[in-house]
Amino acid sequence: MVDLQGQYGRLREEMDASLREVMRSARFVRGPEVHAFEEELASYVGTPHVITCASGTDALQLAFMALGLQPGDEVVTVPFTFVSTVEVIALLGLTPVFVDVNPDTFCMDVTQLESVLTPRTRAVLPVHLFGHCVDMEPLLAFARKHGLFVVEDACQAIGAEVVFADGTRHQAGTMGDIGCTSFFPSKNLGCYGDGGALFVRDEALADMVRVMANHGMRERYRYESVGLNSRLDTLQAAVLRVKLHHLDEFTSARRRAATEYTSALEHHPAFVTPVIAPYSSHVFHQYTLKLNGIPRQSLMEELAAVGIPTAVYYPQPLHLQKAYEYLGYKAGDFPASENLAQCVLSLPMHTELSREQIQYIVQNLVQNI
Ligand SMILES: *Cc1c(COP(=O)(O)O)cnc(C)c1O
Repeated sequence: MVDLQGQYGRLREEMDASLREVMRSARFVRGPEVHAFEEELASYVGTPHVITCASGTDALQLAFMALGLQPGDEVVTVPFTFVSTVEVIALLGLTPVFVDVNPDTFCMDVTQLESVLTPRTRAVLPVHLFGHCVDMEPLLAFARKHGLFVVEDACQAIGAEVVFADGTRHQAGTMGDIGCTSFFPSKNLGCYGDGGALFVRDEALADMVRVMANHGMRERYRYESVGLNSRLDTLQAAVLRVKLHHLDEFTSARRRAATEYTSALEHHPAFVTPVIAPYSSHVFHQYTLKLNGIPRQSLMEELAAVGIPTAVYYPQPLHLQKAYEYLGYKAGDFPASENLAQCVLSLPMHTELSREQIQYIVQNLVQNI
């Protein structure tokens, strides 16, 4: 699904020099590259504060810890997402409350927010899924009206933008109180292991995130809250500084591949190609089709037999998973999420796809239905 070896091959000289410098300095924790990367990323996404941490999952957890949410507080999110989004809410003793997704964009249907509001609702957690943004302007208006925090899960959407009605553009993760991203190797900006970051506008909140990520410690050996040990390795920061320089070019390569897939498949009755809503750009973390009445499993097997990997993100929505049964939801509660789980299929999507590879994939896809 990704070609990290091919990408490393192209970046090898720059990357090796950057890594050697960290090894030479031997400053493996909180080295200068970490701070430099935080500053460079803050300026890239357009937010005052970036705080790096150990993973996207930790970023989400740190966000809710820093906001001071209390057990029993409700956080509204979607069941059609990667598990971390919901897992951290549950781990902190908060209550995940779901709304369904929009079946065209795969992202939170913000028109449903009103229907789940209770006196315990404290935050909304939109997920910019597959590289497409949630319709943030109405979501932010709703949150403002009801005094709710907004934490964005931008793990799949670094560099994607929302266009507001006044024409201003805002990057994923910079519109809410806190935005979270992941540097897992296959993400659009991936390191060579685990890593994550929080984007924060408010200085006091940014300070609280830093304290929480460092054992709740502000002064040495004085602990003001229960925290985590969550940091980005200096080696990973060195990798990310190199890759950040190439992120625009990576995004263009993904968009080019998506355009080629779409122009080959959009008129085919068996496929529904990805939608880009007028309020969002798309950075194609995934290129995800909806299959129209054709059996998915056999298609995947036939493609695998000719060397084409495909994947299902996500085969079962979270409200139907054993771990989240206790929330009391049942089949039928979120029809769009449940239907997508049945019919989505993601094609290979990465920065190294050639035109020939895309043609080969498309030809085989069409032949096998
Ligand atoms: C990858 C991902 C995460 C978690 O990131 P990790 O770095 O793997 O912990 C959270 N949410 C979404 C939507 C993701 O895709």
